[in-house]
Amino acid sequence: MGDDLLGGKSWRPRQRQQAARLALLLGLCVGFLLGLSRCGRPELPDAESLLIRVQWPDGSQSPVELEEFIAGVVAAEMPASFQPQALQAQAVAARSYVLRQKGAGKHGEAAVCCDSACCQAWRSEEELKKNWGADFPANWQKIRAAVAATAGQVLLYEGELIDALFCSTCGGMTEDAAELWGSSRPYLTAHPCAYCSHSPRYSSWKRYSLAEAASRLELQPEQIPELKLLSSTAGGRVALLAGGERQYRGTELRSRLELDSAAFSWLLQGEEIIFLSLGYGHGVGLCQYGADGMGRAGYAAREILSAYYPGTEQGQAADFF
Ligand SMILES: [Zn+2]
Ligand SMILES: [Zn+2]
Repeated sequence: MGDDLLGGKSWRPRQRQQAARLALLLGLCVGFLLGLSRCGRPELPDAESLLIRVQWPDGSQSPVELEEFIAGVVAAEMPASFQPQALQAQAVAARSYVLRQKGAGKHGEAAVCCDSACCQAWRSEEELKKNWGADFPANWQKIRAAVAATAGQVLLYEGELIDALFCSTCGGMTEDAAELWGSSRPYLTAHPCAYCSHSPRYSSWKRYSLAEAASRLELQPEQIPELKLLSSTAGGRVALLAGGERQYRGTELRSRLELDSAAFSWLLQGEEIIFLSLGYGHGVGLCQYGADGMGRAGYAAREILSAYYPGTEQGQAADFF
């Protein structure tokens, strides 16, 4: 009878199979739900465990998981308030930069340091907690989500990792790498950028007395009104400028005059000279505010990267270990 109720002996194995399938399904569901519950904090992939050796701010060196490190770089190099697509683009640029440095020997065994003037800035979670205060959980989750969304992605040009340079605000026109290094890169060229005008440093000015400007340029005050632009860069910045018997490169003047960029012009006003600058930084590569502007306009990270690193293609970090 029991057999009849169960539909005959021949059904038992099938029911067992169904029960097993049900158990498996339940198991998968529980696993899925457990996975979902961890989504509050995006888990960075560690399956491949790509380790990168870093020189830390205290000078020590040790390996760290690549994606963990990239999160600290993105947090240090770009405001967390930026669009997710911009943060994703920054993550890909940062990852490409780190891997290109790997083996370059700049810091002995370590691929990179944490100094923005040398490699890229990086912040620890402790520093970020201090800097962000109550905003830490939301900011950190946003940054980690951008890193996770692009996990392992790098940029290549003809199969090689690119020099993923970036700057804060190009001021309307990016710059050719040749102006910075003396040698060009096909993907680091000068081109218009229409997306960074919301940057607080899109334009700026500095006022000096003729005497102060002369002292900074090692000239006489009466020579300042005779400053003369000799040539401009591909990106519209000052390439060469003459003052008295001297000639200055735009980047040198930027530093001597503490200007935001070498994209400057000037005007004389009585005993003063006013320098007007466009953008902030060298202007080469990814314009960070431009990336944010493109994100606001609905562009994806991939489109942002193609705009600022034209001709590049996506590659995988794992191929460079
Ligand atoms: Zn360095
Ligand atoms: Zn720009």
